[in-house]
Amino acid sequence: MTTIASNLQSVRQRIAAACADARRDVNEVTLLAVSKTFGPDAVRAAHAAGATAFGENYIQEAIEKQALLADLPLQWHCIGPIQSNKTRLVAAHFAWAHTVDRLKTAQRLSDQRAADLPPLSVCIQVNIDGGPGKSGIAPGEALALAREVAALPRLRLRGLMTIPEPADGFDAQLAVHRHARSLYEQLREAGLPLDTLSMGMTADLEAAIHAGSTMVRVGTAIFGTRKPISSAA
Ligand SMILES: *Cc1c(COP(=O)(O)O)cnc(C)c1O
Repeated sequence: MTTIASNLQSVRQRIAAACADARRDVNEVTLLAVSKTFGPDAVRAAHAAGATAFGENYIQEAIEKQALLADLPLQWHCIGPIQSNKTRLVAAHFAWAHTVDRLKTAQRLSDQRAADLPPLSVCIQVNIDGGPGKSGIAPGEALALAREVAALPRLRLRGLMTIPEPADGFDAQLAVHRHARSLYEQLREAGLPLDTLSMGMTADLEAAIHAGSTMVRVGTAIFGTRKPISSAA
């Protein structure tokens, strides 16, 4: 078994154990393999071990990788910041965008999504713990933005996405993830047909699943430690 295959198996075991602990059905939690900074061979190894959905932060890097992997039926998720001049590429090359935090970005993605592609699935990124200078809309503004995004014709609003500050220990992580969960429920109660709460990474996926995450985004635990790259953006 390759290292990536055995890492994936461990991550799946972590997800299964967390679901069992939280008395949740393991099928409620999707694993997004975050392949940023890793090459196409790593993605191939993960796909051979059963991974089908991949998250990338840097648009250009993702597109180059996708071209080398076009023979595989992979689903690509944009999980990095989306500048206005990159929306056309995101609309053309991804199935999902997790990091929509402004109406203008959403409008451009909708306008630029080609008619022969299915609607782009999107999550609204929420700055759930109020970190200064962080991307993501303030929690109090999420409902209004969600309503506007839901009305755009070429987008399919799926839910919310968060990247909380690293917190030490399960209880601290859980507290933050619970805020995201309650915001998610609030939006659903307001009538938005959401099915995705994208939260939890290598360090906090158990707490995220406990709080109700439906999609964990895991990089390091699958592919190993990333080397810093400067040319990626
Ligand atoms: C890099 C990244 C991840 C994966 O983080 P790990 O700690 O390596 O699992 C998840 N989500 C986002 C938005 C990221 O940028």
